[in-house]
Amino acid sequence: MAQSKALLVLENFIGGKFIPCSSYIDSYNPSTGDVYCKVPDSGKEEVEAAVKAAKDAFPIWSSKSPWERSQILNKLADLIEHDLEAFAQAESKDQGKTITFARTVDIPRTVYNFRFFASSILHHITECTEMATMGCVHYTSRAPVGVAGLISPWNLPLYLLTWKIAPAIACGNTVVAKPSEMTSVTAWMMCKLLEKAGVPDGVVNIVFGTGAKAGEALVCHPDVPLVSFTGSTLTAQRITEKSAPHCKRLSLELGGKNPAIIFDDADLSQCIPTTLRSSFANQGEICLCTSRIFVQRGIYSEFLKRFVAEAKKWKTGNPSDPTVDVGALISKEHLEKVRNYVKKAQAEGARVLCGEGVDALDLPPGNQKGYFMLPTVIAEVKDESCCMQEEIFGPVTCVVAFDTEEEVIKRANGVKYGLAATVWSSNVGRVHRVAHRLQSGLVWTNCWLVRDLNLPFGGMKASGIGREGAKDSYEFFTEVKTITIKH
Ligand code: NAD
Repeated sequence: MAQSKALLVLENFIGGKFIPCSSYIDSYNPSTGDVYCKVPDSGKEEVEAAVKAAKDAFPIWSSKSPWERSQILNKLADLIEHDLEAFAQAESKDQGKTITFARTVDIPRTVYNFRFFASSILHHITECTEMATMGCVHYTSRAPVGVAGLISPWNLPLYLLTWKIAPAIACGNTVVAKPSEMTSVTAWMMCKLLEKAGVPDGVVNIVFGTGAKAGEALVCHPDVPLVSFTGSTLTAQRITEKSAPHCKRLSLELGGKNPAIIFDDADLSQCIPTTLRSSFANQGEICLCTSRIFVQRGIYSEFLKRFVAEAKKWKTGNPSDPTVDVGALISKEHLEKVRNYVKKAQAEGARVLCGEGVDALDLPPGNQKGYFMLPTVIAEVKDESCCMQEEIFGPVTCVVAFDTEEEVIKRANGVKYGLAATVWSSNVGRVHRVAHRLQSGLVWTNCWLVRDLNLPFGGMKASGIGREGAKDSYEFFTEVKTITIKH
């Protein structure tokens, strides 16, 4: 760690050492608008060194037993958990999210990512068949692939980065990871714990910098045979193009435009608080957040009235205040982009019922230059409006009415994305029927964001390619071989 003029200066972590970079990018505290950190602006040279370190570490790491690797992952989980408060404070400052969210979601899930894969790696079994007439048995073996390139976004920084690092190294790969240039601090903090956890030098390398320079250098590197990416659909298209000449294995977890479908027999006492969370948690900056709420006409007015009244109670302000529900958005540019969606909806004749442009922000003096926005509810938006079609990724949700099951399925599926959906009804037959017909990688009925990491996570259509989870990540991060023995 280096400290200069009170700015935090990060360094790349390559081959077990912190290495300064020749140039740096400013990183902002979203809740004050001040530059508080310098992030290495890495490029080809740094990526080259990191890939070499990862390649050199591969023979030893890949030959360790799953049990040995599991113990190291568990130790790392313990160390992060021990420092949970420091990690949560850093994540909140770097990303703008509330301290409460960082304490209860981001960092606990980071710890759990390592514990989960430390355990799941011990429980995989491979297939075996017998062909008695030929005197043969066939079986499959799985081996780590090599150096994995891992690229993650800014919304759940350490949570999503470790959702990739943990399975990659549990399977015996070594990694070069690149977090978002906007949220690099907690990944750098984690590097300080790797040696103590027993992670050998070169197994985890972190190169900080932009997507255009560091990200592309990693994606294009010939010695990186697999890339796991979480981020926007646009970037995924670029990564697919750039990696195509090398025929790389890709896992792509992308954006969403997630519907909530609320039937007139829904239990609104459960549905309203959960749909508020699914719309506004983490400032709406979660790929799984709801941004299109379809409410059956009979309960539309009542739902809207109660939903807006509750949304107005969400407190927006200083993320380090534990009573605050909505922190700052990631950047000035992103705030502008989200605000523009609200303006476009208004220009199209939609009604903004609360939040942006309707209610006044009340911020403490130290946060006046931060990137804040109130939870915003828009009604009477046309399905073809950009607010109903494009990912906004902010605290904005649209509420519209529907009449029939058939109609709402068609409308919910009428976007290019297919990541997550929620269905609210007390009719068991209906929730199964609707869940089966939604074009969505995840469907939650009468709940939201309840995850079992054993099961596949990922999106359909423009929301992604591939799935992550116990079995899916194991398959992605290993190469399978079929062996036949004649006796
Ligand atoms: P982004 O695509 O702009 O950036 C994601 C990462 O890719 C960053 O580390 C960035 O530096 C890097 N990158 C950018 N250009 C690159 C390039 N040409 N080559 C290689 N790397 C490059 O996304 P973002 O704005 O950081 O994150 C928000 C997006 O992520 C939203 O669309 C959101 O829905 C999505 N997301 C998806 C999931 C999921 O699991 N499906 C989870 C969280 C976020």
